[in-house]
Amino acid sequence: MQFSTLLILKSVPMKLSIPILILSLIQLFIFGAYAAEKKVVFVAGPKSHGFFAHEHAAGCMLLADHLEAANLGIKTVVVTDGGYPKDPSVFDDAAAVVVACDGGVRHLLNQNLKEFDAVMRRGVGLACIHYGVETTKGPAGDHFLKWIGGYFEPYWSVNPVWNAQFKLLPQHPISQGVQPFEMQDEWYYHMRFREATSAIGTITPVLSALPPENTMKRLKPGVESHPHHGNPNVAEAVLKRKEAQHVAWAYQRGADYNYGRGFGFTGAHFHENWASLDARRLVLNAIAWIAKVDVPDGGMPSREVTLDDLLKNQDFPKPEIWKNEQQVLNKISQFRKK
Ligand SMILES: [Zn+2]
Repeated sequence: MQFSTLLILKSVPMKLSIPILILSLIQLFIFGAYAAEKKVVFVAGPKSHGFFAHEHAAGCMLLADHLEAANLGIKTVVVTDGGYPKDPSVFDDAAAVVVACDGGVRHLLNQNLKEFDAVMRRGVGLACIHYGVETTKGPAGDHFLKWIGGYFEPYWSVNPVWNAQFKLLPQHPISQGVQPFEMQDEWYYHMRFREATSAIGTITPVLSALPPENTMKRLKPGVESHPHHGNPNVAEAVLKRKEAQHVAWAYQRGADYNYGRGFGFTGAHFHENWASLDARRLVLNAIAWIAKVDVPDGGMPSREVTLDDLLKNQDFPKPEIWKNEQQVLNKISQFRKK
């Protein structure tokens, strides 16, 4: 903003520069006031799956960087306390919270449901990414239903790795500037969603695809004893009823949560997937949307992400012999970048 103001001043005659300077200062003031309004707090869980998977902190930092660079008045804070923020006052003036962490019984929100529910009831947005969409059935899951409309419920939802083809996208701010795409990821599906009964909230599927049969290969006698591997309900839904599975969704809460917004995204197991403009923009759009920032018609601006960008802020050092490097580079080369 300041740079463009200087350009204007350099290119006009001196006698016009004073009014333009005043105008520019007013613009700067308005922009500055707006910029201070929207704070997004990322909460990244502790290190997890090894190099280039579940890179909670690196993923959060990358997204935060792109949100700030979009110049839409979003300020970000990335909390890496290894769990729930040690200073919860970070949420006091937040417009939205993004949680990327290992979930289930270890989800970093599980021990602070009441405290965090008070944040949510103020209307603060919440996005949960990948394993961060999984919590336990019962009080934690019930809160997730109220905050983001759905969650990965152990013994109901599944976590296979598959190539999802997203052929149709809904008309929604979150899909602006996103083209249909396909991506290999650990796309969790058969999520537990809040029942759409009335004014309690509205779920909008954002990314949906029919999983291939090979995502059922773990479905053998005894599978129900594993919390992630499958159950007969999944087979009924996918193999028999051919129901598209929603792996990203938007949630508009009701009056009881001051009309806050939620978002769930089950992908991003593989860190290189942030190099996909479509996947990245979709999540950036979603974060803007839950923070109640207008998403530009063409979607959030986002510069190209290279392997060097992805190598930053990793939880684990790059292995001396990284056997997946070529595979990762090949995958990145196939994403749409611009
Ligand atoms: Zn994963």
